[in-house]
This record gives sequence, C-alpha cells and structure tokens, in this order.
Amino acid sequence: MDDGLPGRVRGAGRAAGVEGVTVAKERYWQGRKDRCDVCGELLRAEMHDAAWTTGQWACMCPDCWRQAGSPKGVGRGQAYVREGDRWRRKE
Ligand SMILES: [Zn+2]
Repeated sequence: MDDGLPGRVRGAGRAAGVEGVTVAKERYWQGRKDRCDVCGELLRAEMHDAAWTTGQWACMCPDCWRQAGSPKGVGRGQAYVREGDRWRRKE
C-alpha cells in the first residue's frame, strides 16, 4: 500500500499553500480614538484598551495604563500602536 506516502506529500503541499495564502490579518481598532478615556490627554503613539481601577474598561494613554496597575483577573488588556489615523493591535 503506497497510499500513505502520496497522501502525506499532498498534505504537506496543502499546508504550504495555506501558509502562502495567509494574508496579514491585522486587527485595527474600530472607529476613531484620539483621547484617553481616563485623563483626556491626546493619544500619541500608543494606547491601551484595559481595565481601569474601577474595573471598567477604557482606552487609555500609557501613563494611565501604568497607573491602572495590573487589572485583577482580566489580563493585561490590549495595546494598540498608531498607524496613520488608525490603531493597529499590538501583539
Ligand atoms: Zn490618560
């Protein structure tokens, strides 16, 4: 039975094809965001979507984000970097 080998080769080819087709699937913040939800300062290069000390989620500047400390049980939130007038999700 040689069926196993061609199957494996085809499988590998398919995997490579899928990889080649993969488009840069970047996630952008939906809508505009210019100011920090907490202090109202203009957001520059970076913003964080994270839990504020009240437990409420907000888009905040790096300073406020640092003040928020580590949110309890909700993870660190998500950072975004400015790209023109959009915010691209940072890994
Ligand atoms: Zn702020």
